[in-house]
Amino acid sequence: MPPHLPSVDSLLRHPACHLLIARYGRPATLTALRQLLDDLRQASELDAAEQGAELLLGRLSERLAMQHRSRVRRVFNLTGTVLHTNLGRALLPEEAVEAVQTAARYPLNLEFDLATGRRGDRDDLIEGLIRELTGAEAVTVVNNNAAAVLLTLNSLGARKEGIISRGELIEIGGAFRIPDIMARAGVKLHEVGTTNRTHARDYEAAINPRTGLLMRVHRSNYSIEGFTAQVPTAELAKIAHQQTLPLLEDLGSGSLLDLTRWGLPAEPTVRQALADGADVVTFSGDKLLGGPQAGLIVGRKALIAKIKKNPLKRALRVDKLTLAALEAVLGLYRDPDRLAERLPSLRLLTRPGPDIIAQAERLRGAVAQALGQGWTVSVQPALGMIGSGSQPVARLPSGALCLRPQVSKRLRGRQLLALESALRRLPIAVLGRIDDDALWLDLRQLDDEPAFLAQLPDLTVEPSP
Ligand SMILES: *Cc1c(COP(=O)(O)O)cnc(C)c1O
Repeated sequence: MPPHLPSVDSLLRHPACHLLIARYGRPATLTALRQLLDDLRQASELDAAEQGAELLLGRLSERLAMQHRSRVRRVFNLTGTVLHTNLGRALLPEEAVEAVQTAARYPLNLEFDLATGRRGDRDDLIEGLIRELTGAEAVTVVNNNAAAVLLTLNSLGARKEGIISRGELIEIGGAFRIPDIMARAGVKLHEVGTTNRTHARDYEAAINPRTGLLMRVHRSNYSIEGFTAQVPTAELAKIAHQQTLPLLEDLGSGSLLDLTRWGLPAEPTVRQALADGADVVTFSGDKLLGGPQAGLIVGRKALIAKIKKNPLKRALRVDKLTLAALEAVLGLYRDPDRLAERLPSLRLLTRPGPDIIAQAERLRGAVAQALGQGWTVSVQPALGMIGSGSQPVARLPSGALCLRPQVSKRLRGRQLLALESALRRLPIAVLGRIDDDALWLDLRQLDDEPAFLAQLPDLTVEPSP
């Protein structure tokens, strides 16, 4: 039993402890203090005890700071994938951040019509803007696009058959699989065609008295090349409408504008899908749109009305913070000429490769210095991705810092993992990717250079044994 550990009571009376109590509260401070003393006794670590109360309370302060650190933490996404689902997808523009703050702080007209003083509908807050931007007759918004697909299928096709091409029975990340969603929505899957080729006659032959809808799904995270055939939306809509059936199109990412004007690969637009005759179109708020997580459902008035009456809508609806952010983001789309400056995801996606290379040149020395001996740091061209199932085969020419360990081949892998882990332990974790015996930091998304540089001195890579 170590002789010199001060008592809990004496430590609690210490002025430094009063500060901790004021900051973290008495119960948390007391619990952490007891844990610390227990740990010291068990580790028979007497140094701290010998040095008295100050040192012990210093350790207590560190421990409490660690325990109270937010679990939701900012990171540097230098993976090369811009709309990274695991890292929160799109970044909101300032306008949206301000709108979220206002909506968080004050009461608002979420479901209250200020013109009439009567109860309103939360969808009304963004309906006008979405109609203007897509040409849709009506709109409703839910929690995410997965919810949008589920709700639409259930509202329009429950206890009936949904016809879909075998080439579109996709699985996207997080176990979202079209056949499973259909089953949960109560729609009986009726698949037609083959993996690579589906024809108009396949759909026509499949339609029967139990058919409730035709569905088209954007392939998102894979592509089919070679001997392929797909029925264009306009033709599919005609087939559906001849039998007075609705055509549902899940665009996945979708886009409100033609992205080729910014040199990005073409992605189907919501307006075009509707113009081609899709009756209901669903898409995400936080993929190419660049807004908050949300699922947008747009289309014919009568069908949207039916979707809104579904009791599931209440379970899947969006909250006020999302609506506030979404309205602000959609507002930016009214001025396409300035969109690439104002919408962070579009700004990052369209950053010219040479700018990123120049940035890498600028930062190379500082990173090399932080790593010290044992590493070579070079500037390399790199190829990034849009992410979130947009254009899986398209690549964004970018620039990267390539961090290569100068050790024997046998030790290289371990050294890279040590570096990866050290970068993750920084106050703002830096996330890159390991490829070809090196760790790559794709700088397309490095906006905040000062914060990145400021923490480099904290980097300590545990040397491999
Ligand atoms: C991404 C995607 C979804 C799911 O959207 P979330 O907003 O992630 O829920 C559904 N369908 C397709 C085709 C997608 O690409």
